[in-house]
Amino acid sequence: MTLPADYHAHSNYSDGRPLPSMVAAAADAGLEAIGITDHCNVSSRELPQRAKRKLGFNLDQTYERRREALRSLREQSPSITIYDAVELDYDPRDEDEIERFLEEAAFDYAIGSVHVVDGANIFDGEYFAAKSEAELQDLVTEYYEKVVSLIESELFDVVGHVDAIERTPELRGYTTEAHYERVAEALEFSPTVPELNAGRVLEEYGHFHPAPTFLEALRGRDVRFVPGTDSHRPAEILNRLPALEERFAELDLEPVTPFSE
Ligand SMILES: [Zn+2]
Ligand SMILES: [Zn+2]
Repeated sequence: MTLPADYHAHSNYSDGRPLPSMVAAAADAGLEAIGITDHCNVSSRELPQRAKRKLGFNLDQTYERRREALRSLREQSPSITIYDAVELDYDPRDEDEIERFLEEAAFDYAIGSVHVVDGANIFDGEYFAAKSEAELQDLVTEYYEKVVSLIESELFDVVGHVDAIERTPELRGYTTEAHYERVAEALEFSPTVPELNAGRVLEEYGHFHPAPTFLEALRGRDVRFVPGTDSHRPAEILNRLPALEERFAELDLEPVTPFSE
């Protein structure tokens, strides 16, 4: 199967490589469309503010400049459709700010992702290494509660990497069938669709998000998926796209766009 689009890629407007190089790689890969989804956080709470300063994520300040850059890239590369999109950090406490920002920025579509539990980034293995099994179980449940709340908020077109915590070895293996079921049920009644995310498939973790059993639980409810490589470098688009295409083909899955329905 050839996928027409990759709906999840980063650029230098967050933690990825220069925007023109990402678009050029997408065109080289034969894609008809690429969605640029830079990280963004619009919370006014102190902790996310601090994390945001540390990481240098400021798309909420620079999206208009990026929009300008996208406009000239479209003129230079008319063969590829470039979407002006976002991967926004979600926390239930920030819903009003998120809603206001999305309305103001009017992106082509928005991915919402849960990247933080217990005030820590879910990929920060060291933070979780100090926790007991019972604490980890609770934190994983807290993570899925946030994912469900994200889906139920209906603020986003796409929910990013639903089981992202599985890529962190310290958090791996705590996801239960009850978690799958809660997410599946929420998705069944929401316009928000999940992605099939290839961000770690060629690395140590070696799976897509969602992982096979989770994916089957979702498919049991007729949930469909938006394809995303979650690339931060040009080579990642070229390397991950064939793996993603193969996965859609072997599952006999029809990819969906973030803006259908
Ligand atoms: Zn993410
Ligand atoms: Zn991403």
